[in-house]
Amino acid sequence: MIHQDNNERALHLLQTVFGYPAFRGQQGEIVGHVAGGGDALVLMPTGGGKSLCYQIPALLRDGVGVVVSPLIALMQDQVDALEEVGVRAAFLNSTQTYEEASRIERLVRTGEIDLVYVAPERLMTERCLNLFQNSNIALFAIDEAHCVSQWGHDFRPEYIKLSILHEQFPNVPRIALTATADPQTRAEIVHRLQLGDAAQFVSSFDRPNIRYSIVEKGNGRKQLLDFITAEHGGDCGIVYCLSRKKVEETAEFLNENGVRALAYHAGMDHAKRAANQAKFLREENIVMCATIAFGMGIDKPDVRFVCHLDLPKSIEGYYQETGRAGRDGGPADAWMAYGLQDVVLQRRMIDESEADETFKRVLGNKLDAMLGLCETLSCRRVRLLDYFGEQAGPCGNCDTCLIPPVSFDGTVPVQKILSTVYRVDQRFAAGHVIDVLRGQETERIKTWHHDSLSVFGIGADRSEQEWRAILRQVIALGLLTVDHEQYSSLKLTDAARPVLKGGQKVQLRQYQKPVKAKPSRAAKGYVESDLSGEEQRIFDRLRSWRMGTAREHNVAAYIIFNDATLREIAKARPTALDDLRGISGVGEKKLASYGDEIVNLISELE
Ligand code: ADP
Ligand code: ZN
Repeated sequence: MIHQDNNERALHLLQTVFGYPAFRGQQGEIVGHVAGGGDALVLMPTGGGKSLCYQIPALLRDGVGVVVSPLIALMQDQVDALEEVGVRAAFLNSTQTYEEASRIERLVRTGEIDLVYVAPERLMTERCLNLFQNSNIALFAIDEAHCVSQWGHDFRPEYIKLSILHEQFPNVPRIALTATADPQTRAEIVHRLQLGDAAQFVSSFDRPNIRYSIVEKGNGRKQLLDFITAEHGGDCGIVYCLSRKKVEETAEFLNENGVRALAYHAGMDHAKRAANQAKFLREENIVMCATIAFGMGIDKPDVRFVCHLDLPKSIEGYYQETGRAGRDGGPADAWMAYGLQDVVLQRRMIDESEADETFKRVLGNKLDAMLGLCETLSCRRVRLLDYFGEQAGPCGNCDTCLIPPVSFDGTVPVQKILSTVYRVDQRFAAGHVIDVLRGQETERIKTWHHDSLSVFGIGADRSEQEWRAILRQVIALGLLTVDHEQYSSLKLTDAARPVLKGGQKVQLRQYQKPVKAKPSRAAKGYVESDLSGEEQRIFDRLRSWRMGTAREHNVAAYIIFNDATLREIAKARPTALDDLRGISGVGEKKLASYGDEIVNLISELE
């Protein structure tokens, strides 16, 4: 009976406070379970809607919900967003004065607050644990729970200590949440946080609104600029680069070419970095060029594209980074440019790392999976989901589905490469090997008399670009390795023998000049911006109203209303408060705060 009651109350809160008509996916089930006092482990992709899974139970249960989050810089936005919908929230962290923290602590003790955000290192202090012991705690939510994993790049040693919550607060339900899906991380979370008895809620990791494309890298920056100007003029996006230097150069290049861009990496001074992050979160029409230091917890819902100018180290990283696009469910792009140099560089970074052999093998396997995704001849999404243990059919919304790559029997050209490598005694790097194949009369070739080799010029029929594409695949397939101790010279592996001797065929991806893919209307999950001219005009007007309001309130624009909500309003053209009520994202508090303004604004436009 109580359970039934909870479900009804949960739905009521969802609709009146948050303004959403229905729970998404497993949200309803999770809310019911945690509100009833159960522990839970929630695996949901970025943008899946994890926050409501602990916010609503915290409102349903007596006492204060404690949210453990590693992201101090984002706590303010999280609290702002809750206050906008009328939920009493606050945070406790090192950016506050002693007086301010004491005030929040009092509110926690007297229960005059619904949710409090704390960083793990703060939680572990005697003072904080004492406070919570002497307060009525509704639940503990452990956000970004993958930070317990020592294998991941977000590892936080303080997260491991969170197991004491179980010991000190045995009767308070705990809910751990993450968007990292691999089984290894999941097992580590369960083990480290002692969640062995928790119910596990694993959602599909598919993000159907994201279109995945991986293109051959030529002039990467130029390709990036073309992509942004052709498909995403005026949109917010993120561009990931491997090095700090490249981050800065890319941002500069984009700015010079009329795309507003900012930089973010760990080498910048703290204040500048924080300012750039805040700007990106609060404003529209900005591209953030960043290393992977940027992004965890970035809640901005209207990021329309995420680009990679360098190959990520693993599919987990790639998926998490690209997942920051399209959190609002609208169409978004994950675009990557990838080339021979990426393969060589990533392999070298593994070889030269200080890690022990076991760890290097783990890294090597992760890289191989990533290369497999880049070189696949079939649907990218099928490949991605398969990596996370999920079965799917071709998606119709990735580059290989939209423009199927042409494959060809590459046995002969591969044999040509392998024998050239053999003939030059496995002592030369890619550039030279290609020169020999193409019969170029370079200085070095003359010096080494490589123009007298039988293989000299046997590949004159293909361009350098084509040979690079083939060579890249040969390395990705593991037929050749790059020896970094010896001037990046190419070496044959054992796997090369059956190909070289004949007998084993090699299927390759045909080099293709980049073609622009036109979205297929039938593509699953792809929603085109289907506003009429008039609606678009209202939408633009609403956006500028939102920008002004956000500045006035000193909050991020999306916290007022997200694009999806504004789009619905533009279509509905409400002329009375009641017309606004049913729109997704408009709860009671926002209706009261902004309803009149919006109705007036629209009537002025009519
Ligand atoms: P996550 O933390 O899993 O990345 P969020 O909790 O930030 O995702 O939610 C992503 C977006 O989806 C937010 O803009 C949120 O308001 C919206 N959202 C979440 N649940 C619902 C729902 N049931 N109906 C409509 N929108 C939702
Ligand atoms: Zn596909």
